[in-house]
Amino acid sequence: MTNLTATHNLSKIVAASITKVSTPFKQPMLFKGHNLCSREGYRLKLHFSDGTIGKGEASPLPGFSQESLNDCLLQLKQVLAPLNLNQPIDLSKADAPSVAFALDCALSKTSYEVDSMTLPNEMPLLIGSNQTIVKEYKQLGKPDRIKLKAARQAPSLDAALVNQLHQLNPALKCILDANQAWTAQDADEFANRIPCKVIAYIEEPCATYDDTMGFFKTTGIPVALDETLQNKNFKFHPQAGIAALVIKPSLIGSFARCQRCIEVAKQHNIQTYLSSSFESPMAIKQLAYLAQCWTPNQPAGLDTIKYLDIDKLTLTPIAQWPQKPCSTDG
Ligand SMILES: [Mg+2]
Repeated sequence: MTNLTATHNLSKIVAASITKVSTPFKQPMLFKGHNLCSREGYRLKLHFSDGTIGKGEASPLPGFSQESLNDCLLQLKQVLAPLNLNQPIDLSKADAPSVAFALDCALSKTSYEVDSMTLPNEMPLLIGSNQTIVKEYKQLGKPDRIKLKAARQAPSLDAALVNQLHQLNPALKCILDANQAWTAQDADEFANRIPCKVIAYIEEPCATYDDTMGFFKTTGIPVALDETLQNKNFKFHPQAGIAALVIKPSLIGSFARCQRCIEVAKQHNIQTYLSSSFESPMAIKQLAYLAQCWTPNQPAGLDTIKYLDIDKLTLTPIAQWPQKPCSTDG
């Protein structure tokens, strides 16, 4: 696994800028009670003394990230303020995961030239009504592997969708993502209504870790951890039933923290998938690059980009250091 943190601070930062990036969703999207019309974040640009630049994006996801958009801006400003006095920056002031990720991307000059659209989309994400999903599944040519959001409707309706897709393609293996929204009873009801073999695994079926692991013990359906990994106090201990870890750098944080999760999983033969959190195209390309470096043999979950109207992306200059002269373009 490539350790990108090794390239940090090889040359001095001489200037920096922050730009607000806003991208409308093609249609409003619901994130744990937050109905969002657009995705917003801050783009960071660092200029180094050797003439190179590095970019990163801090895009906290409402409903999932602990930090707000405003928290991100305050932290970025705190970290970059010393540049006004020609002082080195102090990364310890950046503890919000989305900010830590943005800084690591910018400091390590993570490539944003990878064209994520050319990567094989081996795990299409289908979101919408059952009818919409069935239609899209047919349009995609009935692939053997798809990802579906679960627990946004009654367990019986989720089961009906899975059964319908399974009838269209008996070889189908679904990855479901319940985002911790099922009770133990909901999860069991769903499992009782489907042939278990159609599920590759379910990401975070239940609200608590104990219920999630209990679900595996009761049903034999493997689970994957996603939100659980975002809890800074959670120490990952591999155990039977955990099929995969979903690494979302915008929600997990620094490269070091992401790489630790990947390393532990690798030691125990648990799959890891790098996954996006509805970032803008630049950050999606960086995630595609990081996936090539960190999880080269796994498909990356970067399909969130298709829900954004990227032609309507706007960039608004917010701040720059030193005060002049420094370009604030994206
Ligand atoms: Mg998930």
